Amino acid sequence: MKSRYDVLVIGGGPAGAIAAGTAAKAGLSVCLVEKRPAIGAPVRCAEGLGTEALAEFTAPDPCFISAELRGAGIVAPDGSSLQLNSQMAGSKVGYILDRKVFDRELVWRAAETGADVAVKTRASAPILENGAVKGAVLQYCGQTMRVEADVVIAADGVESKFPRWCGIDTTVPVREIMTCAQYLMTDIDIDPTLTVFYVGNEIAPQGYLWIFPKGDRSANVGVGISGLKSGSGHRARDYLDRFVASKFPNGKTIEYIVGGVPVCQPLACTAADGLMIAGDAARVVDPLTGGGIYNAMFTGRLAAQTAVSAISSGKCTKDVLMAYDRGWRESHMGKTIARNWHLKEYFVKMTDEKFNALISSVSTLNLEEISTKNLVRELIRKNPLVLGDLAKLALSLR
Ligand SMILES: Cc1cc2nc3c(=O)[nH]c(=O)nc-3n(C[C@H](O)[C@H](O)[C@H](O)COP(=O)(O)OP(=O)(O)OC[C@H]3O[C@@H](n4cnc5c(N)ncnc54)[C@H](O)[C@@H]3O)c2cc1C
Repeated sequence: MKSRYDVLVIGGGPAGAIAAGTAAKAGLSVCLVEKRPAIGAPVRCAEGLGTEALAEFTAPDPCFISAELRGAGIVAPDGSSLQLNSQMAGSKVGYILDRKVFDRELVWRAAETGADVAVKTRASAPILENGAVKGAVLQYCGQTMRVEADVVIAADGVESKFPRWCGIDTTVPVREIMTCAQYLMTDIDIDPTLTVFYVGNEIAPQGYLWIFPKGDRSANVGVGISGLKSGSGHRARDYLDRFVASKFPNGKTIEYIVGGVPVCQPLACTAADGLMIAGDAARVVDPLTGGGIYNAMFTGRLAAQTAVSAISSGKCTKDVLMAYDRGWRESHMGKTIARNWHLKEYFVKMTDEKFNALISSVSTLNLEEISTKNLVRELIRKNPLVLGDLAKLALSLR
């Protein structure tokens, strides 16, 4: 590791890996630091990613794909279900990744492109000059190092601290942190090509429970509930244990993870003098689905591209780096987050009766035409009275 780089990336998740690879490919000197001893582990993710989302960044490689999906199901509190099937038989709608391999592969590629990578290296403080970020203090195998950089990209995930140390408010309201528990289970009866979501206040208050297949008889089975709903005897793991005991009593658990997903609005500002914030650290997870892998890669790439032009202009001040902030907010991703935050706010207040009415009203939809917007439109079409308030919301979001 050198003491000076063009770009210093903090965090070796999808946001940091894509940022480092993009900046290195453009010819910048780059260092990525990751506090854990290994990239990609432990996994704190259900590992679902859409076909097109993956294709935007890399070709699908069997080494990091656990399952190919052909549909999804949603189960209402009363047990009625909605199947979202692909019209064209055989077409794929998404993947369940193996993130231990996927994250490692992304960082590997960044390293091959020329980025330096340091694991077990934790950024512990920013280097600040007149309020501008000029690098970071790193803890590396018991040693303290100062690494300077023209631009720091903070991709330090949901537990992000670096931007806060630089004076940026990164607080997530407790009710907007999804607290999650997940088992990797095997020896269970599932459809290996179908993701299944269970909704309802008994099963996952203000969240949902998921079964994401990882193979013929294996799946990530997890639950996310609002932080506000979590407490002694009713934590995410309690909901998960109840579900598993009734649905998969003979299944075997081979991994247990917990984690948080920020389903709040993104940070008010994701750029400062010498600093950009990407991925979960910027709170750019889709608030409705909790999916953040694509958004992390998207913002990581855009942050690196912005760093390339800022460094070539010789100016890495906030006004220049704000091109990044504007860029992702104006993108399809940014607009989807804004819209889905409103939808999430609607759905978290929904009663089980409304969930039942909604789901039983829509039997089969063509997945190829399914976007959140289309799904909501279809639900409204079938439930004009029940969903008057949602209809108003949808109109206001046009
Ligand atoms: C239970 C659960 C299920 C999920 N399921 C899905 C899903 O199915 N699909 C989906 O799209 N998204 C899912 N997500 C969200 C997804 O995992 C995240 O959005 C995604 O990992 C964000 O990528 P990132 O690079 O921003 O952050 P991360 O992947 O969290 O990477 C941040 C990295 O920064 C490192 N770091 C932190 N602080 C420092 C420091 N000071 N110095 C050095 N390194 C540091 C961390 O160790 C970490 O490796 C899920 C999340 C959870 C918790």
